[in-house]
Amino acid sequence: MNTFIDTRGSGGEPISFCQAIVKGIAPGGGLYVPQAIPALSLEDICALARLPYRDRAARVYKAFDIDVPDPDVDALMAAAYADNFDDERVAPVRDLGDGTYVLELFHGPTSAFKDMALQCLPRFFEYATSRMRESGELDHDHLILVATSGDTGKAALEGFAGRDHVGIVVFYPDGGVSDIQLRQMTTQRGDNVGVFAARGDFDDCQSSVKRAFADAAFNDLLMSRHNVALSSANSINWGRLMPQIVYYLSAYADMVASGAVAKGAPIDVCVPTGNFGNILAAYYAHRMGLPLGRLLCASNENNVLTDFIETGTYDVRTRSLHLTPSPSMDILISSNLERQLFELTDRDHERVAGWMAQLADERCFTVDGPTRERMQRLYAAGCVTNDRCLEVIGQTYRERGFLPDPHTAVALEVARRLRGDNPVLVASTAHWAKFGPNVWRGLNGLGADQPLPAEVAGLSGLELDRRIASQTGTQVPAGIAALETAPRRFFDVVDGTTEGVESSVLGWLAKGGERA
Ligand SMILES: *Cc1c(COP(=O)(O)O)cnc(C)c1O
Repeated sequence: MNTFIDTRGSGGEPISFCQAIVKGIAPGGGLYVPQAIPALSLEDICALARLPYRDRAARVYKAFDIDVPDPDVDALMAAAYADNFDDERVAPVRDLGDGTYVLELFHGPTSAFKDMALQCLPRFFEYATSRMRESGELDHDHLILVATSGDTGKAALEGFAGRDHVGIVVFYPDGGVSDIQLRQMTTQRGDNVGVFAARGDFDDCQSSVKRAFADAAFNDLLMSRHNVALSSANSINWGRLMPQIVYYLSAYADMVASGAVAKGAPIDVCVPTGNFGNILAAYYAHRMGLPLGRLLCASNENNVLTDFIETGTYDVRTRSLHLTPSPSMDILISSNLERQLFELTDRDHERVAGWMAQLADERCFTVDGPTRERMQRLYAAGCVTNDRCLEVIGQTYRERGFLPDPHTAVALEVARRLRGDNPVLVASTAHWAKFGPNVWRGLNGLGADQPLPAEVAGLSGLELDRRIASQTGTQVPAGIAALETAPRRFFDVVDGTTEGVESSVLGWLAKGGERA
């Protein structure tokens, strides 16, 4: 059976897959990675094309030799990738006609790629904790606590809603999310969910949630009063990374089957990157056998990763966060990069721990020459301005008949600039309908800072989406269209301070928020 070690070497004994997804992060702050990365033969990979997506996912999970019996993996995957996706292929590949192929990761219930992992991880989490409860390893419940700037919150709510022995509470900045995102979160169904608007901006909200996680007295109170431990299930959880490996192998199999690439020939993969989870999954797919030319790391105006890949120095000393049309990539510290550094150094946890300590203390670190060279053989990186991002939306629609969201547009531009002769697979991480106002700007030649004309600005998010859809011959996904009539369930606005967060959680639990 495979076991999991951590990138800083301070987590003690190796643990199992189920333990790794329940723990999330290792005791010393390191991230879990599997001891063994399994290899699939080219035949194995291409054979995925003949299977439905849920079986492709099960096939990859089984290769990792995890502590979940094969029939249980099959059942969990059959539930994770079913009619909750609005395309039965789940993650189809679209040919743009110029050697560019778009991997559509937005067919899940919240129309963002986070569904690919968050329809899967919560089911494995529920499975793992129930087994630990039966064996006496665990005697408490979990509460997933999330601070969100929009997309993650909804995908996590949708994934954890209705799961047993786990509740989820989400805080978003009051007035700081789009009309669509607000409706998505505040209409969330399920007995075990809570949603709060927090006064302040996203940074306030996120720091308060982080402090609540670190507040020993609060955690003790949750345990003694409600028998609940906090958990984050964020993108550093291996259980969120692993489902993402699947779709890169799946896409390659589809591309071979359709004749887009010769069997065994390499493709380049371009990913709009924030926390480095999605692109890292492509790297692990390569380790498992995906024929790969280069990984193209696409950033918006927050280009710390572009500079790192070009120079080997990760420096956030003088950077501030830019707000861009692709908010899910507005990030300074890309947590999953730590796993890539671990692999690039042949798993040298001392060197990785040193760099991470430097990043925490000095907000800067530089990798050694050999590590930088290895990284540069594997990766190329580019960044895109806000105005160019919006131009690409209009241009791609006019020239290729595909309407990308702003995150996908960033990747399409970087792919165009950096690609070589290989076919390039571009990860499309959200449906355009989540970002109507900027998509409208892109289609109508407006810059990112230009106001929408009054008659457009007056429309609700859904009205604007419908107008864009009818003008472009595209569709608003059913999950988003249904928000029009979905009853709003959550109205609370609370202080965005640590006390505000903690008392909201306690109040929610006291009202029986979580199912007993
Ligand atoms: C989260 C997100 C990203 C960034 O993915 P990472 O795995 O954090 O690099 C890109 N696009 C969208 C739409 C997202 O929601």
